[in-house]
Amino acid sequence: MLKKFLVVGVAVVSILAAFSSCNNIVGSTKKILNDSTEVNKEDDKLVQKQDTVKLMDLLDSLNRGKIVFPPLDSLNKIDPKIAKRQFRDSIYRELNKKEKHIYLTFDDGPLIGSRAIDSIATSKSVKINAFLVGKHANMSKRLKNDYQRYMNNPLVECYNHSYTHANNRFHVFYSNPDAAVNDFEKCEEDLALKHKIIRMPGRNIWLFDGTRRIDLSSGSQTADLLGVHGYKIYGWDVEWKINGLSGNPVQSVNEIYTRIKNMLGNKSTLKPNNVVLLMHDDMFQNKKGQALLSSLIDSLKQHKDYKFDFMSQYPVKY
Ligand SMILES: [Zn+2]
Repeated sequence: MLKKFLVVGVAVVSILAAFSSCNNIVGSTKKILNDSTEVNKEDDKLVQKQDTVKLMDLLDSLNRGKIVFPPLDSLNKIDPKIAKRQFRDSIYRELNKKEKHIYLTFDDGPLIGSRAIDSIATSKSVKINAFLVGKHANMSKRLKNDYQRYMNNPLVECYNHSYTHANNRFHVFYSNPDAAVNDFEKCEEDLALKHKIIRMPGRNIWLFDGTRRIDLSSGSQTADLLGVHGYKIYGWDVEWKINGLSGNPVQSVNEIYTRIKNMLGNKSTLKPNNVVLLMHDDMFQNKKGQALLSSLIDSLKQHKDYKFDFMSQYPVKY
């Protein structure tokens, strides 16, 4: 049974590999692809293609380089749809056996709230990620101190969230990519950041190691230019939103916890088994907010296969 399954799986890898690169579609593989898609409408083709890209991504996280491709002729005997489904199930089963990686990321610090976050990271002994705004560290002696605390805590890694936070006028900021890149460079120098890792203010953009996801096109030129300058840009999978008026977290701890658990389960994060949670430092200014953060961490810690990681390790593959 296992052997048969392995054969099917390996064959599908070849089909997927053919899908992923037009140049690879040759001989019998091309025939299979044509047979299976000719009867479908354009929409179905698109869904299939997206499905395949997603599968390739899942497979990539399990190190597909180690899988040996069979002779192309053997593919004639397999129904691609069934084989694909079986193969996806097998990837899910493999991924479910592995550790899951959670990235707690806090934006806009140092702000009131940063000190408490720093203390919670230490008391709970979990790694956290701070995307800092350069000018905030220069706003007061207290915030300068809080920035230093983050920098000195081995459980905290500090990254770049720009110097000015685009003055919260994102469209204007990103309309001048050169000036925007300068702003990130100023932040890096001012805060003596060791990592070339960025989260763009007001944008959920990912750009690293061949992955490029743009949410709003007005940030794309700046993102690409940052990429040319050697930066990696990370967005988020889940956001724990902040109430603009009260400053408190919007969703309940259980809502965020369940969402993280579900997304890891159904592999709907950008990279399987890796989930990036966005929060903001000012959500945790008061005792109530701080208790919620502690409670979320406790809930996640109940899972022995969940690990808290630094964004500099993202994404963990196996
Ligand atoms: Zn921000």
